[in-house]
Amino acid sequence: MRRELTEAWRCLFAARVVRAYLTLVVAWAGGTLAAPAPAALPSFGVDVNARADTLSVDAVFPAGTVGPLVLEDGGERFLRDVQLQQAGHWVPAPVSHQGVRLPPCPQGCRLRYRFLLGQAAQALEDPQSAAAVGDALVSPPSLWLLHPAGGGGPGYRLSLNAPEGVGALCGLQPSPERDGYVSTAGLRVTPLCAFGPWRVRLLQVDAAQVALAVAPVAFAMADEDMEAWVAEASRAVAAYYHRFPVDHLLLLVVPSGGRGLSGFTLGEGGASILLRLGSSVPSTRARKDWVLTHELMHLGFPTLWRKHQWMEEGMAVFGEPLVRVRAGMVDEAVLWSEWLEQGALGLPRAGDGGLETTHTWARTYWGGALFWLVADVTLRERTGNARSVDDVLRGLVAVGGNATSHWEMRDVLRVADATAGTPVLTELFHSMGEAPGAPDLEGLFHRLGVSLRDGKVVYDDTAPLAGVRRAMAGHPP
Ligand SMILES: [Zn+2]
Repeated sequence: MRRELTEAWRCLFAARVVRAYLTLVVAWAGGTLAAPAPAALPSFGVDVNARADTLSVDAVFPAGTVGPLVLEDGGERFLRDVQLQQAGHWVPAPVSHQGVRLPPCPQGCRLRYRFLLGQAAQALEDPQSAAAVGDALVSPPSLWLLHPAGGGGPGYRLSLNAPEGVGALCGLQPSPERDGYVSTAGLRVTPLCAFGPWRVRLLQVDAAQVALAVAPVAFAMADEDMEAWVAEASRAVAAYYHRFPVDHLLLLVVPSGGRGLSGFTLGEGGASILLRLGSSVPSTRARKDWVLTHELMHLGFPTLWRKHQWMEEGMAVFGEPLVRVRAGMVDEAVLWSEWLEQGALGLPRAGDGGLETTHTWARTYWGGALFWLVADVTLRERTGNARSVDDVLRGLVAVGGNATSHWEMRDVLRVADATAGTPVLTELFHSMGEAPGAPDLEGLFHRLGVSLRDGKVVYDDTAPLAGVRRAMAGHPP
């Protein structure tokens, strides 16, 4: 087990989203996934000041909105001058530790307030809620857009107005009919927004647009090298999914004190990735690293409830080396040496439950990856390599199962099994997710014809599943 890799994993695990999710309810209807019927959405107009450290918010809530209105991560303490419009006049709104109380809203309610984003960033120092990076700021709208307590809601509209020369952009989905953004998910979890002098480059990846925003500090990597690095990984991931998995992505790069990389992905209503890149990391090293591809893989899977995090993380751990091997970014031996050296970390230990109940780092990441490895081999074996996890993941993305939406597990399994034509995913969910089923890993590697000898990967093309192994790495039949 490589120490450096382990520490990077831990860092990533600590950074992943650990909040409860309120959901955009995805209805299963006749084989397609249908979004809820359109509803009146809360609408937010946000003016950003010249220093990008204060947000002035004008909020309109539709009829029937019930308070109190809250902010995530204790953002209420950075609220100022909260006012409610009543009979054409602005009056102070009652604010308590429970949030902003609302009167009945038969015709809708209108509020305005200021949010001290700079102070929040100084106090919280966490980009998942608010952080300063040089003169720039990063924060998700869940921290500064008031919303009903505990409520996901059908979505919201957001327009950001910043003075000339002051950057303000979000990972939310751009509104198709007007300026700004529209989200089809609630405000409990949201993609990130970036304010201030980020160095922004727009990349086209297939039909998708990736906004690469680099923090206004010095890196060993030049911005054009970062762009090439992001483009290479994005195109490799798009090749895997047969399309870039989301239409719009905000990818933020911030410095870290370390010599490596870590990151996290925030979706629901859009898609954003934040990468922490060691300031001294040269482009040659960044391009060999797995973290960026891992985060991009997350874009091609719906956001699930926290207890299913093993399935999201396992998918990214399983898929990332496949993508890089097939794109020629790393040698095939990297794929198999990681499995041979570290795969057993994911097996249940004495006393462990299924992946649904034992949420250790090893079970979440490597246990989840084992689930997908066994699924892939089983599907390929059962169908003579005609179906694989590749098809399952492409099938999910094809019906909107990407990071912008929140799904229930039953819908993931239903689409996966329908795409595969065989209920392998559901079977494995019962045996490895709901029970501590342990695959015979040694036997699996033997049947695939792959082993380690003196630290080197050795292949046996006479093994019964050698064809499966070769197909996984992208070799022609
Ligand atoms: Zn991950």
